[in-house]
Amino acid sequence: MSRDAFFCKEWLPNYRLLSPNDINELIAETTSDGRVVVKNICDSDQPCNWETTIVPISQISEKIHRIWGAANHLSSVSDSPEIRDVINKNLEQVTSFWTDFSQNKALYKIFDNLRRGISKTSHPQQHKVLCDYIRDFELAGAHLEDDAQLNFKQNTIELNKLAQRFSENLLDSTKATAIKVDLNKEGIPIKSLEGIPTHVLELSKKEAKKRKVDGYVFSLQPPIYLPILEYSSNRSLRFDMFCKYGRRSSDIAEEGSLFDNSPIIGKILKLRYQQAKILGFSNPAELSLATKMANSPEDVVIFLKELAAKAKPFAQKELDKIKDYSNQIESIRKVEPWDIPFISEKLKKSRFSIDSEELRNYFPLSKVLSGLFETVKNLFGCEILKEQENTAEILWEQSVQVFKVVSQGQVTGYFFFDLFSREEKRGGAWMDECRSRIKYDSGVQTPIALMNCNFSQPIADEDVFLTHDEVVTLFHEFGHGLHHLLTEIDYLEISGISGVEWDAVELPSQFLENFAWEYDTLQKISKHKDTGLPISREMFENIYAAKNFNSGLQMIRQIEFALFDILIHKELNGCERLNDNQVYKKVLEILEIVRGEISVIKQPSFVLFPNSFSHVFDGGYAAGYYSYKWAEVLSSDCYARFEGKNDREKSILGDSFKKEILSRGGSREAIISFRAFMGREPKSDAMLKHLGLVNTSS
Ligand SMILES: [Zn+2]
Repeated sequence: MSRDAFFCKEWLPNYRLLSPNDINELIAETTSDGRVVVKNICDSDQPCNWETTIVPISQISEKIHRIWGAANHLSSVSDSPEIRDVINKNLEQVTSFWTDFSQNKALYKIFDNLRRGISKTSHPQQHKVLCDYIRDFELAGAHLEDDAQLNFKQNTIELNKLAQRFSENLLDSTKATAIKVDLNKEGIPIKSLEGIPTHVLELSKKEAKKRKVDGYVFSLQPPIYLPILEYSSNRSLRFDMFCKYGRRSSDIAEEGSLFDNSPIIGKILKLRYQQAKILGFSNPAELSLATKMANSPEDVVIFLKELAAKAKPFAQKELDKIKDYSNQIESIRKVEPWDIPFISEKLKKSRFSIDSEELRNYFPLSKVLSGLFETVKNLFGCEILKEQENTAEILWEQSVQVFKVVSQGQVTGYFFFDLFSREEKRGGAWMDECRSRIKYDSGVQTPIALMNCNFSQPIADEDVFLTHDEVVTLFHEFGHGLHHLLTEIDYLEISGISGVEWDAVELPSQFLENFAWEYDTLQKISKHKDTGLPISREMFENIYAAKNFNSGLQMIRQIEFALFDILIHKELNGCERLNDNQVYKKVLEILEIVRGEISVIKQPSFVLFPNSFSHVFDGGYAAGYYSYKWAEVLSSDCYARFEGKNDREKSILGDSFKKEILSRGGSREAIISFRAFMGREPKSDAMLKHLGLVNTSS
């Protein structure tokens, strides 16, 4: 393929033409070019300046990020043995390039000198770029002795490999397990499938057909697993699903220890502690916070425990109500974790006359998208239009849609929407960068975002209907997308979400979620399947009242994850001397302690959630899971200013939010952007109020 088909600055990159072979070649080519660029800068006897140093480095980094990003993207959305092979083959090469780069002592010195020469007042953006580089050089050990540097580099390469293994294991273990329900001679399922939504049954029949068996095959993919836990009246089926899901990638998984992540967790933690020590930090949590808004691991623990203390009484009350209600609907003597989603759903329906599956009929994807785009236009003044050019030939999958963002008549960015679940796609929802905004002498390179969800696949050519939760997820990812797309920063390193502190990255996404709970927005995004009517005022009141149903329990669950994450990266000093299994055991001990202190729902010991905790072992959330709550404090605080305002007022506020937060990227510290918009420091009151976790006087 031609290089331009992928590395283009204005038009859309072609993913379809990008064969595994091309990826291999482009990675080899760009990393080798990168080494030449670095060498030329280090060997040069000319005085260094921005144009001769940072510009060429930015340009080549951009190419490496782009091609490696594409390989990782393809591995996430269309996993195959070929693409896994590409990742595994090149992982070492790419990691090695970046480690050599950030450990380069000569380059470190050159950058440090440059920083001294660039004034923060007259060139604040360039100054910030250089400060970030210097910090990253130091976090990669550029200042260390050679032995320590080498050790650090080898550990980094090993850690990346382990993360990839963790993710492959989880995908494989999820795929390896399914529950088959046969039909009897009369063609009736031999187990009760009562309550399971029709679209889930359809998908399961389709899955059975694919596997050439009769009956139904229920996979552990979220669009199947979650509705079964929520709706199936068959308790033993729920239990069965729950067990299999909780045991994924452990040695008690359905397939045995074939995809066991336990030793990998042990290895990862040992290496993370070693890395922190090499750099002079007490533990990996401290190292992780060096690039975040939060000051210290202790501050994070206090933050989480304070929130837990506020949420726990509410969570306990919610659980008691679930238990009370179970007596009325089921003859369940003891409510177990696999009963809670089911009873909760029934309780929610009885209290708010809402059935999430019924509500689904109001949210055809096409209407949700047009309403979302209208909301965004009113808030931030940009238009979102479907790309009319023939995009099919550049896509990795035919159901992906391409849109462009138009501001003041100019196309300022694009995004790819890959919204449906597939077996070869990883679970969850996420936004990735495909291309970043950069200003060149020849013009501006427009940013491109990749937004991915896991909604049920359309059956035939019909419109897909979303649950309200899925609508909220879509708004969330779109908030990330806008952060990347509405940037006005000219430098790769700090444009869009680049250079933004990790615990502030969720601010725009969680901020946008709030609009999916407003009456005005719901009018724009809903249209009933049969009646064609939007959500009525009365239904809205119900949906809104139900919004905080079980919010205490949810908050507690999030805090449990976050506290577990920060503690395993803070409390396991000395684990480097233990074997993998011993470390894993310590991890489970910490899990027990956290559950004992925080949880209100006792999980059975076979739920080995660390083994599928991708955020922390395979994503970038190590000692950073608290970021969700941290950023929610910020986003709720910002959103509170929009509450109860009319469209005109919202668009004025939206403009200011765009100017001070969305467009700024990582060009300044998140707290400065926050203060610029809010005029003060963050407070958690708005978040607790939005979640209904405050005692009202009534
Ligand atoms: Zn997010």
